[in-house]
Amino acid sequence: MSSIKCPSCGQNISKHANVCIWCKCPLTPTVMNAAEESENRRKIEAHKEKWEKKEEMRLAQIRAIESRQIHCPYCGSVNVRKTTFWSDFGLWQSVGKQWVCKDCGSYF
Ligand SMILES: [Zn+2]
Ligand SMILES: [Zn+2]
Repeated sequence: MSSIKCPSCGQNISKHANVCIWCKCPLTPTVMNAAEESENRRKIEAHKEKWEKKEEMRLAQIRAIESRQIHCPYCGSVNVRKTTFWSDFGLWQSVGKQWVCKDCGSYF
């Protein structure tokens, strides 16, 4: 009967044993494990790469949206609103400048 040494306790045990008969440590064929592990790692890497690309695209989209968003030219705040006023005529009127910054109060 072919035997191997237990990696945990060093006793001779059957090559086909799943568990060491001496110390009960689980034995898994190391060669298969290494192959499986590298395969798993490859999958993880591929998945990560895909995910990173997706994330990059998502961030680029967010940046594109943000750059389109109206922001204050004075303080850079995006906390802005349309300048409309309730006039004496009972109408909503713009004051000429389109936006007002709620942070610094500038019209632009
Ligand atoms: Zn053992
Ligand atoms: Zn501002």
